[in-house]
Amino acid sequence: MINDVLQRRLAERHEQSRYRRRRVLASAQGPRVVVDGRELLLFCSNDYLGLANHPQLINAMQNAAQEFGVGGGASHLVCGHSLVHHRLEERLAEVTGRDRALLFSTGYMANLGTVTALIGKGDHILEDRLNHASLLDAGLLSGAKFQRFHHNDMADLERRLQSLPIEGKRLIVVDAVFSMDGDIASLGELSALATKYNATLMADDAHGFGVLGATGGGCGELFGLGQEQLPILMGTLGKGIGSFGAFVAGSDTLIESLIQFARPYIYTTAMPPAVAAATLASLDLLTTESWRRDHLRDLIAQFRLGAAQLNLPLMISNTAIQPLLVGDESLAMMISESLEAEGVLVSAIRPPTVAVGQSRLRITLSAAHSYQDIDALLGALSRVVPAELRSASQAL
Ligand SMILES: *Cc1c(COP(=O)(O)O)cnc(C)c1O
Repeated sequence: MINDVLQRRLAERHEQSRYRRRRVLASAQGPRVVVDGRELLLFCSNDYLGLANHPQLINAMQNAAQEFGVGGGASHLVCGHSLVHHRLEERLAEVTGRDRALLFSTGYMANLGTVTALIGKGDHILEDRLNHASLLDAGLLSGAKFQRFHHNDMADLERRLQSLPIEGKRLIVVDAVFSMDGDIASLGELSALATKYNATLMADDAHGFGVLGATGGGCGELFGLGQEQLPILMGTLGKGIGSFGAFVAGSDTLIESLIQFARPYIYTTAMPPAVAAATLASLDLLTTESWRRDHLRDLIAQFRLGAAQLNLPLMISNTAIQPLLVGDESLAMMISESLEAEGVLVSAIRPPTVAVGQSRLRITLSAAHSYQDIDALLGALSRVVPAELRSASQAL
């Protein structure tokens, strides 16, 4: 019974060119990975700083495993909160310039836990339409009145804020860097609107933490927004930081409330302490070595210039996320497959992750790439992107 329904849905996915399949990597994350016995140049990882396979992180993890073992053992509230977790929370508060930070096992759980702990029935949540799935799910799960405003459209958001009833709490939630587009939210204006309309602002800095700002502190540092202006700052540790997990940073009241009320925090096993130790090592590199961010910036500029010369339809972004807009999902799949034949791995992003007609190749750059790697990517793109996509270029 259920199998028949599932098989029909799977067949439909296939027909729509939306079927997902996993590639099996036989190597660590890095500019080159091994798939099916073949080495491919990788341009779709979120390991933006090339830290996922860094010897100092590996070393820290090995040492901590010797001392603290492997398993977290229990949830943080029972007996799983180790010294390493605690130290990492203190360090994250320091790096983000917040009073406190709280570790979550994943970013998905941090978003679900935070939103549902803070608002519920009778409250209001306003989210950018292009927010990450975990934030949209969190908004739905909260039971609050849920509105999605036009992407980064402050006038639309203000209209919606003006027409809210006075009752209930108000939460505005955005991706700081939009995960499938690479553009950055107008956090200064969002913060001003939140203040003006008595709302609280939350930013998900999954793609900014470690990468944005002079010291990699993320969107708060880039925009100069402290805890007053951006009271709920969420970041992940599995992307630019090269480790695993996530955190929420803010006031003591916020963090204590999450410890009491965030169910995905309370009812889950603490991450292995050794993972937290690796994250601490990564934060050390972040503050002592800024060359990765500088090099990444140079690679982004090189790629955008080269893509403009080839009339490639890059979306407008100056972050490590450099999507090439294709439109049709089967064409996106075809280009992705042709790139793979050229030895370059970039996955095609299709509905429902993006809107229908907005399929794209989500190209991501990493500080571990070289200028030659970018040239190789541009060369492959010049050979496989069909001419019909090359006229309306908007790069640079
Ligand atoms: C990846 C991502 C998450 C989820 O983080 P995980 O730690 O991978 O669960 C949340 N928000 C955004 C914007 C993301 O890109």
